[in-house]
Amino acid sequence: MRKYVIMGVQGSGKGTQCGLLAADLDLVHISVGDIFRWHVKTHTKLGAQVKRIVAAGELVGDDMVENVVRDRLQQHDWNYGFVIDGFPRNRKQAEFFLESYDIDGVIHLDLPDEEVWRRVLARRLCSRCGMDYNLIAHRPSVEGRCDVCGGELVSRADDTPDALATRLREYHGKIDPVLELFRGKEFVTTVDARADKTTVQQTIRTRLDLPAYVP
Ligand code: AMP
Repeated sequence: MRKYVIMGVQGSGKGTQCGLLAADLDLVHISVGDIFRWHVKTHTKLGAQVKRIVAAGELVGDDMVENVVRDRLQQHDWNYGFVIDGFPRNRKQAEFFLESYDIDGVIHLDLPDEEVWRRVLARRLCSRCGMDYNLIAHRPSVEGRCDVCGGELVSRADDTPDALATRLREYHGKIDPVLELFRGKEFVTTVDARADKTTVQQTIRTRLDLPAYVP
């Protein structure tokens, strides 16, 4: 059983790196942001409560987040372990997590703010099937259309300059105390996220003593 937390600013490649780890090692990728986006999209009661907050790039209240994480982990569909992404985002969430779950390691993807701006504003998502694109690294063959299903490509509601500035401010103010708390109790590895995705994945695997990544 392997249980990891992945942390990193918007656009640092958390989703991509989790996907690569999860697919190969049979881990369940738990993205707290995806859970909230699903609630907004499917118009659940929780979705209505968090819609404005998520769109503005602000943080959802700790109690709500902790309930979502607790419910998700209680599903116990993670026989071989999980990698949780987007949580914890502040000290209180980190304390809750450390009290309730053992983890084997924290992966911290480090990316300078200039690069975050460049990557995030180029990000697109298929409005139909959810496939990710990036106008720098992964352009669609037909502009504005998904290569897989032909759906329209859109920006995430929170990938606007205002929301990104808010998220970066939130991130820097809150994540350093989280890293500090984890460093005292768990194995934390900081990986330079400017490298290409294969190099980043190899580095993560070497640091966590996992089987090598074969692209
Ligand atoms: P993400 O995809 O991780 O950037 O998450 C998208 C949005 O979901 C964030 O901007 C927050 O509004 C909300 N969210 C996700 N994870 C958390 C968390 N751990 N604490 C509070 N809000 C969160």
